[in-house]
Order: sequence, then C-alpha cells, then structure tokens
Amino acid sequence: MLIRDNKKIPGLTKPQPFQLFPPLLCLLICSFIVFANLVTVAPIKGALTNISAVAKHGQLSINNGQLLNQYLKAVSLAGPSLYWSNNDWAGEEFYKQEVINNISQQWQASIVRAAMGADNKGSYLTHPEDNLKRVETVIEAAIENGLYIIVDWHSHHAENYTAQAIQFFQYIAKKYGHLPNIIYEIYNEPLQDTDWHSVIKPYSLKVISAIRAIDRNNIILVGSQSWSQDVDISAEDPITAFSNLAYTLHFYAGTHKDELRAKAQIALDSGLALFVSEWGTVAANGNGSVDYQETEKWLAFMRKNQLSHCSWSLSKKEEGASIFKPKASIVGPWSDKELTENGLYLKKIISNWGY
Ligand code: CA
Repeated sequence: MLIRDNKKIPGLTKPQPFQLFPPLLCLLICSFIVFANLVTVAPIKGALTNISAVAKHGQLSINNGQLLNQYLKAVSLAGPSLYWSNNDWAGEEFYKQEVINNISQQWQASIVRAAMGADNKGSYLTHPEDNLKRVETVIEAAIENGLYIIVDWHSHHAENYTAQAIQFFQYIAKKYGHLPNIIYEIYNEPLQDTDWHSVIKPYSLKVISAIRAIDRNNIILVGSQSWSQDVDISAEDPITAFSNLAYTLHFYAGTHKDELRAKAQIALDSGLALFVSEWGTVAANGNGSVDYQETEKWLAFMRKNQLSHCSWSLSKKEEGASIFKPKASIVGPWSDKELTENGLYLKKIISNWGY
C-alpha cells in the first residue's frame, strides 16, 4: 500500500513527513493487531498455556522408535493411571468426569490411563456393563479435556480371553477410533513364564489385526514378558506386520533399577518404540516408601529418550503407590493436604513435564 501510494505522485523521490504519517499510522495499527493476535494464539510450551495436549499434538504416530505428533515432531506425554476399575476394589470411584477435569486443569496432565480390570472378580468379564460404563465415562471426559487416554485391558492372563478382548477393542475402535485421543493397550502385564514368541505375540497379532480392521492409525501398546519388562525379548522378534505400535515398559523405582534400564536400552537401540504406560515411585508390590533417588534416574532416562508415561495410581487404597490419603475428596479440586507423599511427588512430576 505504501509503495502504490507513492507511485501516484509523479516526480516525488522522497516522501514528505506529512505524507508518511497515514501509512505509518496504518503500519502501527496493523502491527498492533498482528501482535495482539500472536499473543493470544501463539502456542507456547504446553504446561504454560490452556492449549490441550490433543489440540496441540493431534493424531499421533510412531516412526523410527519415536512417538510423533501431527507435525511429525517427537512428543512425550505424562499423566497418572487410574487404579483397576473392578467393582468393589480400591479404584472404581475415581472413574469420574471430575477426576479427569482435575488431572487436566490442576495437574496439567497430557494423558490418563483407564486400567479396566478384565478378568478378575468384579471385572469386565463378570460385570461388563459396570466396567464399560466407567471406562466410557473417563474416555468422554478425556476427550472433553483434550487429553490422550490409554484404554488398557488390565490383565495378567489376556491370552485366555482373546475373543473377549477383540470384542471389547472393536467396540472401542468403532465408537472412538476416529478421534486422536485414543491409545489402545491390549495386554497390561503378561507374567514371567508367559512366552513372548508363542503366546504374547500371537495374542497381540490377533487383537491388533481386529483393531486395525476398524482403526487404521491410532497407537496400540503391546505388553511384554515378565510384567511388561522384557522388552529386549520383544526386540529380538518384534511385530512387523502393523505400524504405530509401541511396547510397554513398566517399572517400580523401589525395585527396578539399572538392570531394567539396560533391557530398555537394548530395545531402544534396536529401534523399538517404548511407552511407560505404568510406573511407580515405590516397590513393585505397590508398597514401601518413595525411592526419590531411583525415580530421578528413571525420569532422566524417560526425558532423554522422550518416553511417555503414566504413574500408578489414582486411588485411596492404603499402599505406598496411592496418590490420595484415605479421607481425600474424590471429585476435588484436590488440596496438597489430601495427597500422599507419593501423590505430591507425582503431581510435581506431571505438572512440570510439559507437552
Ligand atoms: Ca483412528
């Protein structure tokens, strides 16, 4: 506009001060408008803004062993895991909209995990409607809050119920698989003597194939032998027929140390994508005190390798791994006084992780 206006005045080689004023004013106003817009919409680092994780990162994928966002940039997500969803256990009351609102708004989490009890007392197999309702409540709350949500078939014997797992995941994929929020975790923790090659891998192939018939792209998490620790064994014989797969690495800092990080490093070096869908600061049995020193080593490892993680667990059960004290409010908002020592530490880790 400035150039065209000058050309209208023949012989003028240098604009006079009074002629410069309107264009300069316009430039000033335009700059102000552009700057004001940038201030309100510019994406700053996740935890510092109100932009939700899913609004920022969108559809996830995996390439070369790394979780990527919609712009194919590496992303690392952090949040808590719910406790087993089973009727009359210690976690079902936390499968609530308000809980998801709080972990999103108070804790700035980017992900949450729904640990649906698959095959124990009070589980999906014995009480399908109750457990499905809990899972769907938190899925829908996660969608509303722009959180990623892991839908976890929380079992130690999933291969015994393959048909039921397929039916469940096909239902979830049909209803929610078009949304970027959903991450499928098809086998929480196979036991130590459950063989990867002959049991876990064949089970995984069947369930992944059933999900992929409906949802071609969302991330699927695959369990490994020995409570999802032997990712080095999975790395020797990975699943190659499908894409956007990650392998779950579970650790409890009070029990699992350098030796498990070495296994994880072998898997990473071989190009496997790892996803820490469950971890704790305490011992593997859920008890004991917070191991700060070892947790910090794990946090550094996850940060360095840009791993995503969900910590155990949103529960009031009287054990070291619980986030809440027995008299804490379920719906919150939660004051620090309602959190256990572990809960306070996890809140700090999650809310400072960024996304
Ligand atoms: Ca999809």
